Amino acid sequence: MRKIGLIGGMSFESSAVYYRMINEAVRERLGGLHSAEVMLHSVDFQSIVDLQKAGRWDDAAKRLSDVARGLEAAGAACVLICTNTMHLIADEVQASIAVPLINIIDQTAASMKAAGIKRPLLLATRYTMEHGFYTGRMATHGIDVMVPNAEDRTLVHDIIFNELCAGSVLDTSRDALMGVIERAIREGADAIILGCTEICLILDPHKLPLPGFDSTAIHADAAVDFALQGVSQIGQQAA
Ligand code: GLU
Repeated sequence: MRKIGLIGGMSFESSAVYYRMINEAVRERLGGLHSAEVMLHSVDFQSIVDLQKAGRWDDAAKRLSDVARGLEAAGAACVLICTNTMHLIADEVQASIAVPLINIIDQTAASMKAAGIKRPLLLATRYTMEHGFYTGRMATHGIDVMVPNAEDRTLVHDIIFNELCAGSVLDTSRDALMGVIERAIREGADAIILGCTEICLILDPHKLPLPGFDSTAIHADAAVDFALQGVSQIGQQAA
């Protein structure tokens, strides 16, 4: 099994979900008490949020590149940035290491393409919804991402940072997100992207009025696919 390197802590609420999902997937695929070979470097999120707010993306890229190099030096065979937002600087991080960076946008796009999705609604941070790095990369995969209106973008962004990243999951906010989804359905959305790694804490992708694509689950699963390449799995043994 190949070692997975996680750049986490953004926030630790979602990194905990990654850790559980990755280990559960390995146990499911290999059986017994198998679990993942995984290393997590969890950063102090406030220091990253400060850089985001100041628009200091170059400094953020340097910081996460240092972390990625550390994981590689410790034996990671792949690296994941456990946040959609920080994929804004994913290319810089990939350039700093020799092992592959498993890109959350590419993986989410592949999953939607396989399902025939063309016009998904993006629920994410303001940076992810507005900066262009996310919608632009999705467009290269032929996916035309729908972004909520300005008022709804503020609503979603604030729920992520003020509540979900701070460990608070409120029914009123779930209802508010459902309102954003209802408006997008009227505008022709054909799927929902849980495009922030904390959204799965408040919305169940399987209980939405449209197909839900949880970036956290998709990303974690891609890491396990990579880690187990060449390892014989339960289904393969039985075949
Ligand atoms: N985890 C979130 C995301 O997937 C937001 C936290 C961050 O700003 O990195 O975008």
